[in-house]
This record gives sequence, C-alpha cells and structure tokens, in this order.
Amino acid sequence: MNETNIYRSAEFLLSANKIVQLPPDQGKEVAFAGRSNAGKSSVINTITNIKSLARTSKIPGRTQLINFFTLVGNRRLADLPGYGFAKVPVKVRQQWGKTLRMYFETRQSLHGLILIVDIRRELSEEDEQMLEWCRVNYLPVRILLNKADKLSYSAAKQTLLRVRQRIGEQNVGVQIFSALKKTGMDELQNQLDGWFLIEK
Ligand code: GDP
Repeated sequence: MNETNIYRSAEFLLSANKIVQLPPDQGKEVAFAGRSNAGKSSVINTITNIKSLARTSKIPGRTQLINFFTLVGNRRLADLPGYGFAKVPVKVRQQWGKTLRMYFETRQSLHGLILIVDIRRELSEEDEQMLEWCRVNYLPVRILLNKADKLSYSAAKQTLLRVRQRIGEQNVGVQIFSALKKTGMDELQNQLDGWFLIEK
C-alpha cells in the first residue's frame, strides 16, 4: 500500500460503548469529534473516499459509540459520538462524558484529535470541553471549520482568523474545510500524515 494514501485503506473494525471494548491500545490512533450535524461523517467519508464508511445516523442512541476504522500498519481512526443531541437523557450524557474523558486520559495510541465545527456556528460548550481535555492531556488538535462552501471566501477567512485568535494555543491548528467541495483536504491530510507517519 502506498504510504501517501493510507486513508483509502480504511475498514470498519468495531463499535465500542465502554472503555473495556476498545481495541488494544497499540499503534497510532486519531480521533474525530464534533457536534451532531457538523459533518463528521462526511469528513471521514471524504478522507477515506468510502461513501458509506461512517454512516450518517440521526438516531441519538446509535451515536453513543466509538466507531473504529483500521488503516494499514496498525493505525486507526476513531469516530467519537456526535454531541449536542437535546434528546439524549442527562444520565446518558454524563456517562458518555466520563467514558470520553477516560479515553482521552488513558489512550496511549491517541496521537491527535480532529474537531469538526460548522463554520457558521460558534464553538459549543462541548467543543470547548473537548479542547480542554486535549489541553490537559497534551493532545494536539486540528479544528476543521466545515461547510465553508456556505460562506463567501472572505467571510470564511474572517471566521478562521477569529477562531484562531480565540484559541491562541500552539497545540491547536485551525483550518477552513468543506467536505462537500473537498476544500482543505491537503492541509488535513498533511496533519494526519504528521500524526500517523512521522515517528515521535
Ligand atoms: P455528522 O452528524 O456530524 O456526522 O454530520 P453529517 O456528515 O451527517 O452531515 C450533516 C449534514 O451536513 C448532511 O446533510 C451533510 O450533507 C451536510 N454537510 C456535511 N459537510 C458539508 C459541507 O462541507 N458542506 C455542506 N454544504 N454540507 C455539508
């Protein structure tokens, strides 16, 4: 397999509801998070070029899972549950918060997080929570301001600058993206390559 195209090798591995169900903590993993409807499934599909890989599920219960996809060479993508569903009961949300926090704190193979945000919305409380967990665990993050095709170039650029200024952290990259138009794919792939292919 061509090492420059490892994302095309993605295959579904398993869904985990609890920490004990996670695949062995070996190799390298990159996680994807975001508010429901921000376009997480579309982004994963765009990178892997497999249309139905991260199937869009609008049923809250079914999203309470981490879906793992394997890539060649003991590498994985972890599709974290989309958040922001008003209908999810508080107890379920709290349990998921605990599981995710533990995942961030303990996962040795986790090398980075891609946080998908709708460019037309501000960072949500849950997005901020994700950023905080990454910060305390020294996990690098890249924020994708997705659906950039919905804004003019200059409006997208302004949002980019505003978010960058707001974050102001070295460990967090921010970029414009459109899963629909494939805008920002090279930047995203460079980031993923950095995490997956370069030894540290
Ligand atoms: P998820 O809930 O975060 O997995 O979001 P989905 O990938 O299911 O996308 C939610 C909706 O946004 C769908 O209707 C997608 O077609 C749409 N969508 C996702 N990415 C883009 C994008 O870059 N541009 C536009 N215009 N729509 C997008």
